[in-house]
Amino acid sequence: MLNIEIIPCLNDNYSYLIHDESANIVAIIDPADFDTCEKRIIKKYNKLDYILNTHHHLDHVGGNQKLKDKFKSKVLGFELDKHRIPGIDITLKEKQNFKIGNTFFEVIYIPGHTKGHIAFYSKDEKLVFSGDTLFSLGCGKIFEGTHEQMFKSLNKLKSLPSDTKIYCGHEYTKKNLEFCLKYDPNNEFLKRKINWIESKIKSNTPTIPVSIDEEKKTNIFLRCNEPAIKIALGLDSTSEQEIFSKLRDLKDSF
Ligand code: ZN
Ligand code: FE
Repeated sequence: MLNIEIIPCLNDNYSYLIHDESANIVAIIDPADFDTCEKRIIKKYNKLDYILNTHHHLDHVGGNQKLKDKFKSKVLGFELDKHRIPGIDITLKEKQNFKIGNTFFEVIYIPGHTKGHIAFYSKDEKLVFSGDTLFSLGCGKIFEGTHEQMFKSLNKLKSLPSDTKIYCGHEYTKKNLEFCLKYDPNNEFLKRKINWIESKIKSNTPTIPVSIDEEKKTNIFLRCNEPAIKIALGLDSTSEQEIFSKLRDLKDSF
């Protein structure tokens, strides 16, 4: 059994502290900032066995080196990014299985936001750490990859079991909601989430995690084949992937 603690860092980042109870092993996903993460680690477990990174951006690896120095942790990251993940010790390959204590994880390769972006998926725990690829009601900006790669990566995540919980890298849900509502205004599932999201944000509570099922019903980037969305864009005979590209571009200037 895995305990998961959400650590809000910097402006809107989420780092995740995970604890495999049966083996008493502690790991952190994407430590954005040393001070914030260190405090929580000391208070809760006073040890850190592993540091896992979804991608190389500073707001995800910023705490790596100092945490590693302090707790003698091992850093895990994708092999393609070994030259730009600070302190990396163990390189991971696409589809590789590894264990945190007694909990199995699989590496899902999801390029687009960056060329070496990965997600950490646990089938048994029914959860995925999606970094900056899939957000609640949104998806990451395409910095290094292509629109096609991002589209494929999102489809990989979309095809996970529908009760899989998504733990993403940022609290962008409210802004993402506004974008979804603009181009999918008659979506009843989306409308039903408005009050819930607003109350969470007001009380400073994360809107994370959300399930794959929920996202398939509400996240516009996972709904590019919906006729209503194609019509709203005035592109009703366009392919799903082109709709995705159009939406991603529109979101960049939203
Ligand atoms: Zn990023
Ligand atoms: Fe980020």
